Parts: sequence; structure tokens; C-alpha cells
Amino acid sequence: MIKPMQDDLPASQITHAPLAGVIGMPIAHSRSPRLHGHWLARYGLPGHYVPIPVMPEHLAEVLRILPRAGFVGANVTIPHKEAVLTLADTVTDRAALIGAANTLIFRADGKIHADNTDGYGFIANLRQNEPDWQPDLGPAAVIGAGGAARAVVASLLDSGVKELRIANRTRLRAEQIKAEFGARLVVYDWAQVGNMLEGATTVVNATSLGMQGKQPLRVPLDALSPDALVTDLVYTPLMTPFLTEAQARGCRVVDGLGMLLHQAAPGFERWFGQRPDVDDEARRVALE
Ligand code: NAP
Repeated sequence: MIKPMQDDLPASQITHAPLAGVIGMPIAHSRSPRLHGHWLARYGLPGHYVPIPVMPEHLAEVLRILPRAGFVGANVTIPHKEAVLTLADTVTDRAALIGAANTLIFRADGKIHADNTDGYGFIANLRQNEPDWQPDLGPAAVIGAGGAARAVVASLLDSGVKELRIANRTRLRAEQIKAEFGARLVVYDWAQVGNMLEGATTVVNATSLGMQGKQPLRVPLDALSPDALVTDLVYTPLMTPFLTEAQARGCRVVDGLGMLLHQAAPGFERWFGQRPDVDDEARRVALE
């Protein structure tokens, strides 16, 4: 018997290589397609990962269509990370707590599941680069209170940090995070960031300051202990002025690129069936 061509099969029987992508606007700068493309090639897996530019007013429509077009999931970035929560059928507790999702899974039954892996990526990056890091050794200090800071706060509390200090230019945003995340948080005034670092054993820049084309983060580091682990979410450049100064004071520093790589790994595994390695090759590809 002659086998029918795929076009002759009912839609439910057509098997495609799985598709995934990253939804955002603008999206051309995203490093995710290169990274996922590298992992697909490296493990010899069938599949494609593409940038998907979507205007906010089209988000709901696109999310309805993608699963019908062979997509098994997607990453989500600016400006859609909050809006997808209202469009998903199920949302993990951590995504709900953070108030944003970055990873979607399109289930076989047509339902959309939303998760946030930024906090996982943040902690995995620290643990990979500083295996001896102990989150409960002393206070953590988080500078910034935007979307990424919320994921960092959630993951640090989850990891056992007993006191979490936070300061933000717009103090109200930090107060809001304290109101949602609870008693272990202490809000500092933006003018007091230098004091906030005293005795801190984990210090995080979660602002966008220090990015290429932006002002550096200017914080007096006199109170910073050389025993502190200092990390920056900004990864362009890899060594921000903040990390450079902290390193010069004897601190261990971890750049933000590993967070980007680690947050991508759970989605890749769900969509394509293989947990990818976050190694020097993946770093190099993401930086190209
Ligand atoms: P966001 O929600 O827009 O928040 C931006 C943060 O930066 C806020 O705390 C904001 O303070 C602060 N900020 C901006 N300009 C400032 C200035 N001139 N002076 C003082 N504070 C300023 O952005 P986000 O999503 O949280 O991202 C923050 C950074 O993390 C970005 O650089 C992003 O690329 C990076 N990031 C990295 C990863 C990774 O995987 N490594 C993941 C996510 C994000 P106000 O509230 O006062 O405006």
C-alpha cells in the first residue's frame, strides 16, 4: 500500500519536529534563538527555535494559534512577561508570586502552562560558579525592585536567606515587594544602599544600571565585606563596573550570563526532551 503523504493525513496524525521560540517586542536582539539552536545541533535533536515578534494587542491571538501551528512552548520576554499570566490556563506558584512568566508549555490538551525560571537560573548560576556559597550565612542585599529583582528575591528566600535587604530608586516598588514577600525583607532608602551592604554575604545588582549604554551603578562599597559574593544580572558587559570594583575589593564575583543560560534549560528540556549543558561552549554561543 502506498503511504499517504503528510498533507493527506488528518491534522492529529501529522508529526512535526517540535517548534519553540521566544515571544517579545523587540526581539531581534534576543540571544535565545542562538542558544537553543546550538543545543538542538549539539544533541542532534529535531526541532526549531525562532524569534516571534508580537505586539501587545496581538498576544492573545498569537498564543491561541501557536499550539495549532506545531509549537510545543515558548519563552516570553519584554513586554509580555506579566500579560501571559492572565492568558495562561495554569500558572505555577512561583510565577504567580513573582507576577511574571518567562516559560510557556503548550500541552497536548491545548492548555497553556506558565512558569518563571529566572529565579532558578539565578541560583543555578551562583551554585555553578561558587559551589561553596551558603545563602543562609548572612544577610542578602538586593539592589533594584523591577521584574528581575522579584524573581531574585523569591529564589533567595526559597534558598534559605534569613534576612533580605532591598533598596530601589523608587522606594515604593521595594515596599511593594516587602508587602508581598514578607517579614524577612528589610527596605532601605536608595540613599542608604552603601549602608545596606554592611555585613551582607550575598550582594546582587538587579537594576539595569551598568548595561552598555547606561550609567554605571554607583554605590559606595566601603562597607562591603571581602567575604561577600557579589553578582550582577547585567551581562553586557560581562564584567560590569560594579563587579570590577567589588572584585578589586577582594570579593568573589559572578557575572549574569550564566543566569540567562540556566533559565533557558528547563524550557529546552520540556520542549525537546534533553536537559542541556550550561558550559563554556553555551556561554560562547550566547555571547557571539
Ligand atoms: P525593570 O523591571 O525595568 O527594572 C529596572 C530596575 O532598574 C528597577 O529597579 C529600576 O528602578 C532600576 N533602574 C533603572 N534605571 C535606573 C537609574 N537610572 N537609577 C536607579 N535605578 C534604575 O527591568 P528588569 O526586567 O527587572 O531587568 C533588570 C536588569 O536585569 C536588566 O538589565 C535586564 O537585562 C537584567 N536581566 C538579566 C537577566 C539574566 O538572565 N541575566 C534576567 C532578567 C533581567 P526604578 O524602579 O526606580 O525605575
